[in-house]
Amino acid sequence: MSEQGFPGKLVQALGADTVITDPSEIEPWLTDWRGVYRGRAQAVVRPSTTQQVAECLRLCNDHRVPVVPRGGNTGLCGGATPDSSPANVVLSLDRMNRIRSIDTIANTLVADAGCILGNLRRAAHEAGRMLPLSLAAEDSSQIGGNLATNAGGVNVLRYGMARELALGIEAVLPNGEIFNGLQTLRKDNTGYDLKQLFIGSEGTLGVITGVALKLHPLMQVRAVVLAAVESPRKALELLRLVYGACGPRLQAFEFFTDECLGLVLQHVEGAQQPFAQRHGGYVLIELADTADEQALQALLEDVIGRALEEELCADAVVSATLAQLESLWRLREEISEAQRADGPHLKHDISLPIEQIPAFMASAEQRVRSVAPECRLFVFGHFGDGNLHYNVSRPAGADRDWAARCEGPVAEAVFAEVARYGGSISAEHGIGQLKRHAFHHHKDPMHIRLMLQIKQVFDPNGIMNPGKLL
Ligand SMILES: Cc1cc2nc3c(=O)[nH]c(=O)nc-3n(C[C@H](O)[C@H](O)[C@H](O)COP(=O)(O)OP(=O)(O)OC[C@H]3O[C@@H](n4cnc5c(N)ncnc54)[C@H](O)[C@@H]3O)c2cc1C
Repeated sequence: MSEQGFPGKLVQALGADTVITDPSEIEPWLTDWRGVYRGRAQAVVRPSTTQQVAECLRLCNDHRVPVVPRGGNTGLCGGATPDSSPANVVLSLDRMNRIRSIDTIANTLVADAGCILGNLRRAAHEAGRMLPLSLAAEDSSQIGGNLATNAGGVNVLRYGMARELALGIEAVLPNGEIFNGLQTLRKDNTGYDLKQLFIGSEGTLGVITGVALKLHPLMQVRAVVLAAVESPRKALELLRLVYGACGPRLQAFEFFTDECLGLVLQHVEGAQQPFAQRHGGYVLIELADTADEQALQALLEDVIGRALEEELCADAVVSATLAQLESLWRLREEISEAQRADGPHLKHDISLPIEQIPAFMASAEQRVRSVAPECRLFVFGHFGDGNLHYNVSRPAGADRDWAARCEGPVAEAVFAEVARYGGSISAEHGIGQLKRHAFHHHKDPMHIRLMLQIKQVFDPNGIMNPGKLL
């Protein structure tokens, strides 16, 4: 039976094997990774080429059909989930997964936007280089999604966010025009850097189809320590000491509270208690270098020795083997999974001026408890970047409606404290559907006005990812 209506036009233009219209087959594309959001769509399109993306967008634009770009669906703000309109078309990049080139002289990698981040990291590694963008969802998230959300991850401290790793972007505009900014130049001072507009745009300006990224030298040797700290203030002092002593070798400085460790020990198979006794919080520090493992290990041991002497940390485990290094990292990386196993929680991915973190943590807890007295707090994150995942869970024995009832007041409490300390309500994950209200409440109205004007230039018919960000 031939397809009717708009899906029929998509099939005609792109071929039946590129367009899914059967409602039961569309079903998996309608929810987000956490299962919090659910939407509707009349079709899912899975193009294999930039030309097919262009054809799809041109058709959708001509018929004013909303388009929801979809990467690996690991975003935590509902950005890749369609809204409740039955007219939506979900445009998945999963078939655009070709590495176009790797250059080990210019140190660049060019790839389709649908490539899985972990695969790109492995390909760079095989070529003797490093793609530093790394996050717990790297084996599902796509590089196009990483740029559309300006992802961060565990190496921001040394290499910056996704934005700082991007040299060029190819994208399709809503009218089907191809923006060819896929260059690998390190220097190009010819006016506005338009590719930057697509980075962090969450699919609201067009569809990223290709990316050119910077590569870095492969870090051949790593050394990791897990340090027990009694307070965020001590973690701050530890950061000052370690950065001063290790400079650019400092690759990661991650923090988590004892409550987070407890959750990982409870829910993650094989996770082991790292210290004889529990402490207020923990800092995971990684140093990395291109060569000389012994020197790196000695540097780490020396700096941790000083930290213990100066009582910046109460105890420390330095990894002696790769297996130990990985099991220390698991304690940090499995926190999100452990939270998922624990049940519903209210996530707040925020950033602060680093020196304000201790004061923020004290006053935010007070304020949150004033609206959700018995809640459980799970605070962890990329401390060295001033980025905290400030997650709030329901108390033991609370009724099922707890999250729905507390979501608004808790977010308001957290974001008010973020504003008070000069931070941002979204450090890494973007705005999506989740933070739209808060974004409009807390962002400078002039910034929003300029964003709306840019949106109008790229997407005058408003077909790109409606209901997200703006
Ligand atoms: C366990 C876990 C850990 C995580 N850790 C981190 C972390 O440390 N740091 C971090 O930054 N994030 C983290 N995230 C969030 C998530 O992985 C990132 O936001 C990631 O960059 C999303 O990529 P994706 O391909 O899954 O995008 P999706 O979830 O599919 O989409 C995200 C947004 O980008 C848009 N989009 C996707 N692809 C394109 C494209 N090609 N062109 C235009 N728009 C597009 C979508 O419309 C949507 O608005 C984590 C998520 C999980 C589940």
